[in-house]
Amino acid sequence: MTQPVSRRRVLAASAGAAGLLWTPASRAACPEPPDFPAGVDHHRQNYRNWAGELRADDVWTAVPGTADDVVTLANWAHRQGYALRAQGFRHGWSPLTVTAGTDCASRVVLVDTRRLDAMTLTGPGPEPGSATVRVGAGAGMEALLGFLEDAGHGLTATPAPGDLSVGGVLAIDAHGTAVPAEGEVRAPGTTYGSLSNLVLRLTAVVWDPGAGAYAARSFERSDPQCAALLANLGRAFVTEVTLLAGPLARLRCVSRVDVPAAELFAAPGAGGRTFDSFLAATGRVEAIWFPFTERPWLKVWSVSPERPVTSRPVTGPYNYPFSDTVPSPVADLAGRILGGQIQLAPALGRAQYTATVAGLTATASADLWGAAKNLQLYVRPTTLHVHANGYAVRVPRSGVQEVVHGFAAFYTARLRAYAARGRFPVNGAVEIRVTGLDDPAETAIGGAQAPALSALCPDPSHPAGEVAVWLDVLTLPGTPNSGAFFREVERYLFAAHPGTRVEWSKGWAYTGEGAWSDPDVLDRVVPASFGPGWDAAVSALDRLDPARVFTNPFLDRLLR
Ligand SMILES: Cc1cc2nc3c(=O)[nH]c(=O)nc-3n(C[C@H](O)[C@H](O)[C@H](O)COP(=O)(O)OP(=O)(O)OC[C@H]3O[C@@H](n4cnc5c(N)ncnc54)[C@H](O)[C@@H]3O)c2cc1C
Repeated sequence: MTQPVSRRRVLAASAGAAGLLWTPASRAACPEPPDFPAGVDHHRQNYRNWAGELRADDVWTAVPGTADDVVTLANWAHRQGYALRAQGFRHGWSPLTVTAGTDCASRVVLVDTRRLDAMTLTGPGPEPGSATVRVGAGAGMEALLGFLEDAGHGLTATPAPGDLSVGGVLAIDAHGTAVPAEGEVRAPGTTYGSLSNLVLRLTAVVWDPGAGAYAARSFERSDPQCAALLANLGRAFVTEVTLLAGPLARLRCVSRVDVPAAELFAAPGAGGRTFDSFLAATGRVEAIWFPFTERPWLKVWSVSPERPVTSRPVTGPYNYPFSDTVPSPVADLAGRILGGQIQLAPALGRAQYTATVAGLTATASADLWGAAKNLQLYVRPTTLHVHANGYAVRVPRSGVQEVVHGFAAFYTARLRAYAARGRFPVNGAVEIRVTGLDDPAETAIGGAQAPALSALCPDPSHPAGEVAVWLDVLTLPGTPNSGAFFREVERYLFAAHPGTRVEWSKGWAYTGEGAWSDPDVLDRVVPASFGPGWDAAVSALDRLDPARVFTNPFLDRLLR
């Protein structure tokens, strides 16, 4: 017999997942680490990742105010045999920060970076019209994009939430959605790849063999050692970066809920309103496809210097409140599914689609226009906290429709097969976006290194002109059979598209038990997907941190 779970419980679960809970445990039960640097603020805190699947109670957390504090912490950790784990907003899924079972007895100190948030415009970039900004690794993306906007600058594509730290997004080669539209010329100072491809230089706390101590050191983008630091998975500690920015663009975002999935994801060459046709027209597309529904929520952004007459101007981000604040019918169904009524997945899919259609109309948000960041940021921490898998399928630009068609066909068939057996492993949306790769030439820096561990790092053995189709499937945490289902999806992607890489921050390496657990994917498939660059990057990170201050057991297993 299942119990109904109220909207309040779903939202409370979200708050817990966001890590808002502070521990009241006694100091005696959890003593301060020995000789902890007196000048660095610290307290104990419960760690919760985004979906609340990874919890570490009562962990000592330091809050450095300067890069020197981080150096002090690193040398203390080295002396005492502790590990330091950088954390920004904790808005991720994978065990990159801490692993399950970490507690106050583990020799681990979390380092909350968010006071390292200074930003300065540092001048023009290498291409006329571009700019450079120096920013602390703990600064939030929303703050950075707002700062750039005030100065007349912006980025081509960004992750959807604003509550992500610069250090956190660079660690995992964060992406938005953009490839050149037909005839589009890249704006100076911009990339179609990940944010890691915007780095001109960075400062990291690394081992200084001469001094026999950890020290802050600056790395130019052309320094071969920079390659491994640009997307470092948290196996390094970055304190500050200088990023490229382009001219501030105005974007239009049109939402469509009228194109059937059968047409959007049709076989290549079918004609009609295909995913590829929207991509060709504007280069910036996202499909959100709720399970067991016929029509995805398709967002189509276009660069539009002037406001189109039908577009509503917006002056701030987060313009889809119906998606950021869970509507009651959706929360109620989600609560009942969490309570065990898994067969309500189709009803939840339909409720989300209905809420989207109604919400777009009620808030007049189907056609919006404004400064780039106000259209690029559209996810708040109040949204439903679900589990997500994530992959980047790298194919020639001409292969995008084939990828989405094949994926949609596989996903639908497996969803139906599971449902026929009374199994509903997926109750959240599929999300599809497309980006370019991390072409270092886009920085206009001679000898610029590609981010070695980025899913978007170009593979020299592949032809130029590849793009990445980013695929995510969402489901409520703990949904029965989701591990088995996601394992099938993963195996399909690796088999159908050998260019597939995992999305570091999300779920991958599935077994029936869940994510990050398939030894073959961890030990062989993922390293092989990076080719020879993998070993070189792992060795570089080891050289920069030979005492392994910046690591955890999961990274030790993966990066070896
Ligand atoms: C709802 C939601 C939507 C998302 N949407 C997108 C999206 O559109 N595009 C996208 O690419 N990603 C997306 N993400 C993933 C997100 O970008 C990553 O999880 C990101 O790492 C989170 O940033 P954070 O500040 O919360 O980092 P944390 O979760 O705190 O840390 C993540 C990793 O970064 C490391 N790290 C943090 N700071 C530093 C530092 N200074 N130096 C070195 N390592 C550091 C940590 O040790 C850890 O390994 C989304 C996540 C959520 C929850």
